[in-house]
Amino acid sequence: MESKMKETKAKILLIYTGGTIGMIKDADTGALKAFDFKNLLKRIPELKLLDCKIETVSFGKPIDSSNMNPKYWVNMVEIIESNYSFYDGFVILHGSDTMSYTASALSFMLENLGKPVILTGSQLPIGDLRTDAKENLITSIQIASLLENGKPVIKEVCLYFEYKLYRGNRTTKINAEHFEAFDSLNYPLLAESGVHITVNKEYLLKLNTRKTFKVHKVLDENIALIKLFPGISNHVVTSILNIPYLKGVILETYGAGNTTTETWFVNALQKAVSKGLIIVNVTQCSGGSVIMGQYETSKHLKEIGIISGKDITTEAALAKLMYLLGQGVKPKIFKTIYETSLRGEMS
Ligand code: ASP
Repeated sequence: MESKMKETKAKILLIYTGGTIGMIKDADTGALKAFDFKNLLKRIPELKLLDCKIETVSFGKPIDSSNMNPKYWVNMVEIIESNYSFYDGFVILHGSDTMSYTASALSFMLENLGKPVILTGSQLPIGDLRTDAKENLITSIQIASLLENGKPVIKEVCLYFEYKLYRGNRTTKINAEHFEAFDSLNYPLLAESGVHITVNKEYLLKLNTRKTFKVHKVLDENIALIKLFPGISNHVVTSILNIPYLKGVILETYGAGNTTTETWFVNALQKAVSKGLIIVNVTQCSGGSVIMGQYETSKHLKEIGIISGKDITTEAALAKLMYLLGQGVKPKIFKTIYETSLRGEMS
């Protein structure tokens, strides 16, 4: 369905955190480094032509998103929190390397979001002749400006790249070279940009209007990610599971959630779970879902009490684990809550 453009002028806050979009080549080394935001805006005079009001705020020291961490996520949600009532939408300029992690984290930290938060960036700097930055930025702002009856059409954390709007916590960076750098294998596109901007309204997150917007800032970083591979050793697995203060583990398994059935492995997981460690099973495949019990090689995980990540991405699984541990969710109900879709991150 084609969505009507805004009925009144939308007000958008553009938040610059860094990334290739605003980088320039270092004169001495030739390496790309973050540049100052004012120069970025000078390079896109087209922004003045957009039919919305844009205001900007920048990280004091813009970063390459490879340096992203939960403290920066808190900075971002605080900017959104303190400006929430003054703007119709938020566009965050962010490096593509960890954009899916940030989109996932923000989706949990911003509960009951009633406005669009769209992350975008580019593969080539804005000053490059062949840059993809202008289209990404301009269309992100246009999508964030979509209003219907004076209310934002999109009310969730999204990622816009190369003509496509995705639910942020469903995305993964799949390519370091192509302009089409992201994909969302387990959830359809929220919108597509061609001659018109087409919004797929049936896939948008619905807002519970009885609940108020709430910002969460506590994320627990005492977690680990274990990616299985044929040959992973007992020593490596048990060392990780015994890390002091560790509270949760995302276990990246094969196919539909399968693992080796070797006794040392099953015993190590069982021991960890009985000690109170939270273990979540997610698949290494880019698409599809964990179905524990479908094969003999995953039945034992179900019996031990491992949580199913279903069709969640690893990025969203990590963010959800940090968020729920940060919320202090009780062990008794942790599995039930984790296996429930909170922000449309799992089917
Ligand atoms: N290294 C850059 C970053 O993530 C890559 C990009 O912006 O696309 O900040």
